Amino acid sequence: MADYYDTLGVSRRASADDIKRAYRKLAHEHHPDKTGGDDKKFREINEAYQVLSDPSRRSQYDQFGRTFQEAGSSGGDPFSDFARGFGGFSQGQGSGDFGFDFGDIFSDIFGFGGNASRPSGRARGIDLQMDLVITFGEAVFGTEKDVSLQKLDTCPMCGGSGAEPGAKLATCGKCHGQGQIKRMQRTILGSIATSTPCDECGGRGKIPEASCKTCGGRGTKQQIKTIKVVIPPGIDDGQRIRLTGQGEAGYLGSAAGDLFINIKVQPHPTLRREGNHIVSEVPISFYQAALGTKIQVETLDGPVELRIPAGTQSGKIFRLRGRGVAHLGTKRRGDQLVTVRIITPTKLSRKEKELLQQMAQEKGEFVDVERGMWDKIKNQFE
Ligand SMILES: [Zn+2]
Ligand SMILES: [Zn+2]
Repeated sequence: MADYYDTLGVSRRASADDIKRAYRKLAHEHHPDKTGGDDKKFREINEAYQVLSDPSRRSQYDQFGRTFQEAGSSGGDPFSDFARGFGGFSQGQGSGDFGFDFGDIFSDIFGFGGNASRPSGRARGIDLQMDLVITFGEAVFGTEKDVSLQKLDTCPMCGGSGAEPGAKLATCGKCHGQGQIKRMQRTILGSIATSTPCDECGGRGKIPEASCKTCGGRGTKQQIKTIKVVIPPGIDDGQRIRLTGQGEAGYLGSAAGDLFINIKVQPHPTLRREGNHIVSEVPISFYQAALGTKIQVETLDGPVELRIPAGTQSGKIFRLRGRGVAHLGTKRRGDQLVTVRIITPTKLSRKEKELLQQMAQEKGEFVDVERGMWDKIKNQFE
């Protein structure tokens, strides 16, 4: 698949304005309703723009490429995601980071009104979102979770048709059985024919003579549903997973909305994540630092031996390769960065004090023992 930046012909450092400008130009050029238009190219452009115009999705793309989207969604066609989105993606989304309104730019370019440009009219189900708390380890290694939520789902009695079982079907008066409402739009590109599904019959051209009693003819009903969420290894706090078609059911069996899972990761008591690296600190004694030692370090994979060479200074960082977090969608892992902190001894026995004083003398250092052991150490050559 082509790189989104290449698709729009902009550099990776392009500003939001550059991207918008490049998109408008290309969308004009390749719009399928235009002579010489190219449907495939147009979809690619839209897909690229949908991602690059959204700061959080853009940074995700810069970091992970397309893997995240694919890992999270249940394999939806990116264009249908786009198409459903435009003209009203933000419905049901409060502060969603995908809350981009394509209606604006399209009404801008093609003179469509927001609603006319939505292929599924008002029938599409609403997007839902929910938070999911997972442990640090689950985020690192991936997991599967069952989530339960109450939502408007397909009516179990009529299967979404809205018809009372056994009811006869009559031709829809609004679309005359076509299922579509056609209209001509005058735009700067000339007249463009648009058709939207009929909102009366939900695009099916027929209306039942008796409505389903369970759902009142809407084809949907409030239900509690349990959904399996596959969490890819390497997901981080604040990222979202999109489950295509798992939002609320659409009117009369039309397309369902999507469910967005906001991932919240619980902190680990000793390990902290920085991108794909894990950072941690270990205390070692003054003696271990001076003489060298081997210590056990806690990692995501259990304890790992780390060799501390003689003469190690406090604050030195050791790298444990491949002990970090997987890059989303790959098996490649970051590293663990271990900072050693040297602990100055505090409770010293008489014997220890004497030995340390001897060491100080050996080094030619002045130690003011009278004023408390170590609160004043000076180099006599200063
Ligand atoms: Zn029903
Ligand atoms: Zn109709």
